[in-house]
Amino acid sequence: MKYEVVIGLETHAELDTESKLFCGCCTKFGSEPNTQTCPVCLGLPGVLPVMNKKAFEHSLKAALTLNCEISKFTNFDRKSYYYPDLPKNYQTSQNYFNIGNNGFVDIVVKGKEKRIDIHNVHLEEEAGKLVHPEASGANYSLVDFNRAGVPLLEIVTQPDMRNVEEVESYMQALRCILLYIGVSDCKMEEGSLRFEASISLREKGSETLGNRVEIKNLNSMKAVLKVITYEISRQSLLLNKGEDVLLETRLWDDVNSVSRRMRSKEESHDYRYFPEPDLVPFWIEQEWIDETRATIPELPVSRRRRFVDELFVSDYDAGILTEDKFLADYFEECVKISQNSPKELSNWIINDVLRELNERKTNVRDFVVSPEMLVELVNIKPTIGSSIAKEVFSEMMNTGKGAQSIVKEKDLAQMDDTSELNAIIIKVIEENPKAAEDYGQGKKNALAFLIGQTMKATKGKANPKILTELFKQRLSASSK
Ligand SMILES: [Zn+2]
Repeated sequence: MKYEVVIGLETHAELDTESKLFCGCCTKFGSEPNTQTCPVCLGLPGVLPVMNKKAFEHSLKAALTLNCEISKFTNFDRKSYYYPDLPKNYQTSQNYFNIGNNGFVDIVVKGKEKRIDIHNVHLEEEAGKLVHPEASGANYSLVDFNRAGVPLLEIVTQPDMRNVEEVESYMQALRCILLYIGVSDCKMEEGSLRFEASISLREKGSETLGNRVEIKNLNSMKAVLKVITYEISRQSLLLNKGEDVLLETRLWDDVNSVSRRMRSKEESHDYRYFPEPDLVPFWIEQEWIDETRATIPELPVSRRRRFVDELFVSDYDAGILTEDKFLADYFEECVKISQNSPKELSNWIINDVLRELNERKTNVRDFVVSPEMLVELVNIKPTIGSSIAKEVFSEMMNTGKGAQSIVKEKDLAQMDDTSELNAIIIKVIEENPKAAEDYGQGKKNALAFLIGQTMKATKGKANPKILTELFKQRLSASSK
């Protein structure tokens, strides 16, 4: 490959607020179409927008977390264009005074750190959604304005990424940060998080940027990575043939895995931005910035480091635990209330809790086993053994009951009474004289067989350590 790839990303994240950006309409996803609208978000004449303070605070928090310089003075602008999902024929956005500028996100790719610069972070409103009932044979489209006016944060990077690995790492880091600070639910399947990529190629060593292609509305990380891979090969083929890459906007066709031309530069919109006259400009006081900064929690990178340094969890495990803020909270809660080693708790969470969450397609916030319940189970594990502990764990999830009461109810406590065990051992030896004889002749495997038979007889409840001791004593005595 004789070209260098230059990639920039724009991210749209719907902000997690109860009501829309400029009116009191509900933002809940998935309601009946056009049931969450009012004259303001429908753009009817004579209405006046009122800004949602929470949405503004979320944007400020995101801009601060992304290390941006905050514009003390900011306002909204009208971005004019016509599209059926945009009832006002303009989108209220920020163009001249973005809330944040010149930030950065640090990512790690193949063990190496890299800084991706953020050009700006700004707040705007969502458009509605077009619904195409083509499947039913209709020759029209419908529009749902429930989404129109939902607060949307746009995060624009510099063209700093050079390959798909960096893009993937950036998207994951950004999503993780937005979830950690609680400003967006980042549900890609509901469109709360979407990406647009700009991709260009240039000869290695060249300082000038090649013609860039913009790809709109990518609603999964997989699609972003696929379109970039596709564009790299499409553009390098053109350049190899001595042809120009056209400056254009393309759409990704996920079904056929190709990008298609949407519009060329000549057809691109002149948005005729001008300051929104219906909203006052804002001065952001330093006090407000300080207060907001104080609400930013510990971020995944430093939390991961702390888990390794202070709790002695392996770096790999710490990475898994801190990927989801609520999973990391769950782990820390367990550590706080338990006498057990963080390593043992982290093993339970990574192996058992995560497996169950994946299988049940749920998340740790809705998980029936609370940290208290998990700790109770880990505490009594030495008295019931590992395999029964797993059984109790699955029973806890099915019933929501505590480990102690399940052990009591199902009579699962480990047998460690030696006289009781000895009685069973005698019986097992009687039934398996050959194995006992084999052991006497030095065949060590025979012991494992006898222990297995005893485990079967006690339904796995015999304490394996005591059992082994008792067997050894009895068999060596009888072979003398
Ligand atoms: Zn409304």
